[in-house]
Amino acid sequence: MELKDKVVVITGGAGGLGLAMAHDLAAQGAKLALIDVDQAKLEQACADLGSVTEVQGYALDITDEEDVVSGFKFIVEDFGKVNVLINNAGILRDGLMIKAKDGVVTDRMSYQQFQSVINVNLTGTFLCGREAAAAMIETKQAGVIINISSVAKAGNMGQSNYSASKAGVAAMSVGWAKELARHNIRSAAVAPGVIATEMTAAMKPEALERLEKMVPVGRLGQPEEVAATVRFIIENDYVNGRVFEIDGGIRL
Ligand code: NAD
Repeated sequence: MELKDKVVVITGGAGGLGLAMAHDLAAQGAKLALIDVDQAKLEQACADLGSVTEVQGYALDITDEEDVVSGFKFIVEDFGKVNVLINNAGILRDGLMIKAKDGVVTDRMSYQQFQSVINVNLTGTFLCGREAAAAMIETKQAGVIINISSVAKAGNMGQSNYSASKAGVAAMSVGWAKELARHNIRSAAVAPGVIATEMTAAMKPEALERLEKMVPVGRLGQPEEVAATVRFIIENDYVNGRVFEIDGGIRL
């Protein structure tokens, strides 16, 4: 799919990796519908991108079904179509499932801590995927849905919630590839490793150095490298149902 004049929806598009994708795709002539729960960041992102392309912000919470349904209706009203969805919004709420000392359980991951991550990362991805697919079909467009998973899909200590959500996102992408191809919609996932973002910039230098040593290529990934992978998937019409690991080999 050529990106010029295509309408790309990016969830979590106001910051971090989503914003890097927005800049990358805008440079190719894509029009952008950015969804984010953070209104202030969204306004800033739209102001920055406004000189490059047509861009609209939609301040909504992807865990809220009504918000998502009406958000996609507004996007179709504003742009007339949807061609690409990048399901990128995600959160972390790390913690051990059980903490214990000397045979005494001192803490448990709460239901809320587990469920909040599932709600945003998995349920939110499902809701946006469902509405985007409906919009693509109804506006008679070829479509691409890309879900952002994580290297954590393999299962990480202290990430019961996050790992489960990201494994679910990877599996759902493959399911959608099978289910939606008949409607001329492709689906794939990107599973980044540790990418240099505000989160990693805030880490202690020693911790960051330890982390870098765990990556076979010896460095963290850059947001632009994730964005380039997303663009590759959009532009290559024979890519379908694949989970692309962009992680410098940290999974090995
Ligand atoms: P980030 O926190 O910088 O950005 C996430 C964006 O999502 C924010 O702008 C936030 O406001 C938005 N958001 C959160 N909850 C939302 C909700 N309920 N509704 C709408 N918007 C919501 O995160 P990031 O580091 O850019 O990560 C982006 C994606 O990449 C996430 O899915 C994350 O799990 C995944 N990922 C990141 C890394 C990394 O190293 N940064 C590695 C692997 C996977």
